[in-house]
Amino acid sequence: MPDAARNRSGTRYGADIADDGGAAHLAAELALRAAIIREQEALLSRRERALGAAAGLWTCRLSDQTLDWTGGVHGLFGIPPGAPLHRARILELYEPASRRLLETIRERAILGCGTFRLDSEIVTAQGRRRWIRISAAVEAEGGRPTRIAGMKQDVTEEIARLAELTRRADRDPLTGLANRRAFEERFHAGAYLARPAQVGALILVDLDDFKRINDTHGHAAGDLCIRRAAARLAAVCRHASLVARIGGDEFAVLLQAPADPRGLVELGRRIVAVLGRPIVHRSHAMQVGASVGIAPGGGSPAELFSRADAALYAAKDGGRNAVRIDYGPRRSAAGAP
Ligand code: GH3
Ligand code: MG
Repeated sequence: MPDAARNRSGTRYGADIADDGGAAHLAAELALRAAIIREQEALLSRRERALGAAAGLWTCRLSDQTLDWTGGVHGLFGIPPGAPLHRARILELYEPASRRLLETIRERAILGCGTFRLDSEIVTAQGRRRWIRISAAVEAEGGRPTRIAGMKQDVTEEIARLAELTRRADRDPLTGLANRRAFEERFHAGAYLARPAQVGALILVDLDDFKRINDTHGHAAGDLCIRRAAARLAAVCRHASLVARIGGDEFAVLLQAPADPRGLVELGRRIVAVLGRPIVHRSHAMQVGASVGIAPGGGSPAELFSRADAALYAAKDGGRNAVRIDYGPRRSAAGAP
């Protein structure tokens, strides 16, 4: 053993010296790593601040589903920083439809080592409803997916603004009924998609001689009549799947369940009767009538609309204030008011 390996008392300490050197090296390495981690955390928190308070970064180790969140994600879910994170329990905070979609899309991204972006509805641990936007990328080693990481961001206000814009885009501002755009969307979807029985019947209603109301009482009174007529129509057709204003004085009613012809004619007559009641405004009684064309479901949306339209014009030609029903090429019938 060399002299340097012994102290004055002759005790062997060379190995201790070597161990001390290793410990010092390890301590330096740990300090360096801690500094790097602190630096990364500071960077993340700067990014989070730049994203706004309601956003954060997350990772999930795929081998055991271990989650790692920054403070922003804890805030989004209302889970205090440091609380244990169990993926299965966190999934319970997602609304069922969002949870199903997330799991499907996530699974697909993992299989393809890809990325995804999804808006999901959650209910926070405190019971607050919130929409979050999830951006995720799957990381792989040797072609095998190992980790999924990304960002979560609060988009509740953005989704609410979008829903309000959609609602307004679908509404007729004068009557509050669905507008022509919403009608066409529903009519075509109902007639083509899923079940043909979704359109049981289409009823078209057009006010009679309405130009006269405007000419006699003024446009503002005309507007009032359209509003009142719309409210009465909606009330009498409260079981319809949609009541829409599709033109100046024209309305459409979609019935979902197939109705028997007698029931349809009966409904048409009730529409004519309620719209024919005088509308009283500032001691003036305004008389508004309506004609009704009905087409029971079947055929393409274009055919169904054209049958209802033909029935409406038959009602107008028959003297107005009347109901007509068009069954299609095989049968046609008329219903008197
Ligand atoms: P018909 O019996 O053949 O239906 O005749 P009509 O006078 O009702 O005329 P038509 O249905 O062809 O046209 C509807 C009229 O309704 C045209 C316009 O003067 C009026 N109108 C359309 N939109 C509005 C509206 O928003 N407010 C008011 N006050 N009047 C409208
Ligand atoms: Mg009219």
